[in-house]
This record gives sequence, C-alpha cells and structure tokens, in this order.
Amino acid sequence: MRLPLLPLLPRRRDIVCQQAVELVTDYLEGALSRADRRRFEAHLAGCPHCTEYLAQMRATIELTGRVTPEELTPQMQDAFIALYRQWRADGDEGRG
Ligand SMILES: [Zn+2]
Repeated sequence: MRLPLLPLLPRRRDIVCQQAVELVTDYLEGALSRADRRRFEAHLAGCPHCTEYLAQMRATIELTGRVTPEELTPQMQDAFIALYRQWRADGDEGRG
C-alpha cells in the first residue's frame, strides 16, 4: 500500500494560507471542529493576509446576511490564491 504524496504538505504543523482560505466559510458558520478552529485562529494570528481575507468575508456576510458559497466563485478563489503566491514570493524569499 502506497501513501499518496501531497503536493501541498506543509512543513510545519500549521495550516497554510490556501487551507485557511478554504476554512474561512466553515469558520464563520461555526462548522469547524474545535481542533480545526484552533489551528485556523493560530494561523490568523501570524498571517495578516488571511486576517484581511477573513475581514472581507465577514463584510460580505454582513451585506448578504449569510455565507453564500455561490458568491465565492472559482475565479475569486483563484484570484486569492494568486495573491497569496505573490505575497509569498515577496515575503518568504530566501526563507526556504
Ligand atoms: Zn495565511
């Protein structure tokens, strides 16, 4: 039996930005497990980008009244992922 190789396997135990983005709606809906919630909040504490993303999602929910996954189109997700790649290229250069 072979274990699959995960291309985005993080080196640290912390979740990575892409995972955090995917967890935002569940987090705002209170759908995360306690462990996931703690990891999510721990990531936010050290990541201003995801904090900003969460703030934007909160603002969207205040406008629409609820979390609407239809509003978060694949294009939006791609745009955010592209942003994160830029941030990482700017901020993590040389840190391995
Ligand atoms: Zn992040």
